[in-house]
Amino acid sequence: MLLATLPTQAGPEAAMRQAQLLLVEDEAAIAEEIRADLDSRGYAVTCAPDGHTALDLARTRRFDALIVDRMLPGVDGLTVITTVREENIAVPVLVLSALNAVDEKVRGLKAGGDDYLTKPFALDELAARVEALLRRPVETRETVLRVGPLELDLIERSANRDGREIELLPREFKLLEYLMRRPNQVVTRAMLLEDVWHYRFVPQTNLVDVHIGKLRRKVDAAGEPPLIHSVRGAGFLLGEGGG
Ligand code: CA
Repeated sequence: MLLATLPTQAGPEAAMRQAQLLLVEDEAAIAEEIRADLDSRGYAVTCAPDGHTALDLARTRRFDALIVDRMLPGVDGLTVITTVREENIAVPVLVLSALNAVDEKVRGLKAGGDDYLTKPFALDELAARVEALLRRPVETRETVLRVGPLELDLIERSANRDGREIELLPREFKLLEYLMRRPNQVVTRAMLLEDVWHYRFVPQTNLVDVHIGKLRRKVDAAGEPPLIHSVRGAGFLLGEGGG
């Protein structure tokens, strides 16, 4: 008999944490249709009707992904993406466009887009692309990941919290790396089973809970504010709180 389901340690802030999306689309009816659909799927969507507003928002708030229409009045979509990349705002970008030419797709990706979707598209397709983008870790050449007091050295294969060394088994290391690459983002059991364990189906198992439980006891020592949270009905989240 393995461990029973872990008690939820997440505060109300952690439970409320939704993926934050910035949708940049000038056509109000399309923007609203997309926003309503993504909202119904549990995402928090902020809309920007033009490139200037989009850049202001991207600079001042943290988003988990940007969805950028290629054709915008004023600052166009490609310029928005190029600017975001030049300013090293680490966020995945999905480019939307009515232009189907291969050239346009290449331009969108070259400008720094991570994926490209041609209008018209099914909302299911958009949601699937967004989900895939959110799963993809933000590109980083850093060899040391840091979240709050937690450090993970990918070369030395070591971890510490405020200098307190944390000894991790290989699987725990992978699990922590996965969580630290997605700080303040809800990670589901299915994501962990597929991406850390490489299961191709989701078995009926509490494998993830058991490993998270062990990892949590190492990362969150007695008296330390918890960094690993359970999010009821959703999965887990690593972060210092609401995010
Ligand atoms: Ca447009």
